[in-house]
Amino acid sequence: MSEIIIGIDLGTTNSEAAVIRDGQPRIIEIDGSRLLPSVVGLADDGALLVGQSARNQYALHPERTIRSIKRRMGEDVKVKMGGKDYTPQEISALILRYLKKAVEGELNEEISKAVITVPAYFSDAQRQATRDAGKLADLEVVRIINEPTAAALAYEADHTGQRTILVYDLGGGTFDVSVVRMEQDVTEVLGSHGNNHLGGDDFDARIVEHLVNHLKDVHGLDPSLPPPAMARLERAAEAAKIALSDVPYAQIEEEYLLERDGKPVHLSLELDRLEYEGMIDSFVDETLEAVHTALQGAGLTVSDLDEILLVGGATRTPLIQRRLEADLGIQPRTEVDPDLCVAAGSAIQASVIAGHQVASVLVDVTPYTFGTSAIADLNGEAYPYTFIPLIRKNTAIPVTKSEAFSTTYDGQEAIDVTIYQGEDQDALNNTEIGSFLIEGLSDVPAGSVIVTTFSLDLNGILHVTSREKCSGLEKHIRIENATTRFEQQEMAAARERIGALLPSHGEDADTGAQRKNVQSLALIEKAERLMDIAPAEDKEDLVDLTEQLRDALSAGDIGAQQQAGGELSDLIFYLDS
Ligand code: AMP
Repeated sequence: MSEIIIGIDLGTTNSEAAVIRDGQPRIIEIDGSRLLPSVVGLADDGALLVGQSARNQYALHPERTIRSIKRRMGEDVKVKMGGKDYTPQEISALILRYLKKAVEGELNEEISKAVITVPAYFSDAQRQATRDAGKLADLEVVRIINEPTAAALAYEADHTGQRTILVYDLGGGTFDVSVVRMEQDVTEVLGSHGNNHLGGDDFDARIVEHLVNHLKDVHGLDPSLPPPAMARLERAAEAAKIALSDVPYAQIEEEYLLERDGKPVHLSLELDRLEYEGMIDSFVDETLEAVHTALQGAGLTVSDLDEILLVGGATRTPLIQRRLEADLGIQPRTEVDPDLCVAAGSAIQASVIAGHQVASVLVDVTPYTFGTSAIADLNGEAYPYTFIPLIRKNTAIPVTKSEAFSTTYDGQEAIDVTIYQGEDQDALNNTEIGSFLIEGLSDVPAGSVIVTTFSLDLNGILHVTSREKCSGLEKHIRIENATTRFEQQEMAAARERIGALLPSHGEDADTGAQRKNVQSLALIEKAERLMDIAPAEDKEDLVDLTEQLRDALSAGDIGAQQQAGGELSDLIFYLDS
């Protein structure tokens, strides 16, 4: 058996190690987690701490804890830890050594070689410093590869032909965007841009600012809080930020945060996603500008791009995914865990160097989008059946996502929740796969919030729950085979579409009649949905034609069915457009 070469993503915030097992990258768990915080420190007794334990002591003992050393790589500087000076290479070497030992423990084998990833913009000095760190950790660095290249390999290792890929990488403290071209065995970075001091930590800082203002306004507290209270706010802010990637509201509760006039101060605050998005919008603007600068640098335009890959934990933020899609017109890919994508790609590269067959990372994804409908803007007008996607296609499963909806009139007692699969902005053009009524809502003014949650598991079972926020009243539905059901319906619809194109000569009379019946029923269903929203002057025609079609159907009168069906179809087309 040939020697194992490990892949290492030596990150600013976190680092990861991966190896190929059974043809697939496997991230090695270290201290129970696949992410090792890139933090090194010395404990009270002088013992070396690496990872989570070092991170935990950072707030209390910054003088003997070092984080974000990657920012200093290649600089001729020393950093102080517990009164002694160390080079950035030495600190990085401690992280690498910890990763190496963890992999050796896990695989029960000695490791001596590694592929390490670095940002595309790293200079020769920074790359050399990374090699030296490897050497200090007793690792022969067989190759240094660019992080966007690794990400592209994780997604596209087995792709043939040319691909032009935008890799958008937003981590805790750094942002990089690169344009990568893959062709056969060659992967080249055509252009890159970024900001070494922009990331998810800035998002946390905005939330912390908001919390401090709240404490000032509501509790009259001085904004300069003592460090332990600030450390708690930072942790709470990050947790709220992470929650808001999946749910529309985050509750922040920090009891006994401080004392004021001898009395404890409890922080209790709800943050909603919209408000949070307002806080970080300007950061997202900045990243989009960088995307265009990178494209320009590569001498390309948006239309040259085949896909967008998201890397770095902060890209789980829905606002980022939405804005990128709106700006570039391509749905970004997220299915390979954005925290682990670079490590997985480095293991793929390591495996290629060791002479093994490789494949891109395989993940279970939903092949379809699932969502519901609501009154919302569609093509500049309020439309009651606007499709609101909750789980987008190609999302890794299992997944749970929630959105907030609100009642439209005072005292609204019930809401009809309809669940669709499909990609059309008009929910009526998608496939309805279930519905339920949430009744007995509180007698409150319009705008009462209903949070709807979609959970899709690996078996294709979709759970949908709607919950009235003010009362907790809840209703749910379980849809079996949510994904395959769509396949069957799609297949039937596709058959019908093809059938309509084929010459009817020789067509089995029964099949022809059945097809017309199916079409007529679909028309009637669609007409019924439109009745509530059709303008008064068209409603009468809609009702009449629906009745005529129904009568023709029950009488089995194919001619009348065709006549009424044709007219109804024209009217629906007119009302729909
Ligand atoms: P990385 O440097 O790639 O490990 O990214 C770390 C950053 O991603 C930190 O700022 C995290 O708080 C942030 N992050 C992790 N998970 C999420 C999430 N679900 N939504 C938003 N940000 C996240």
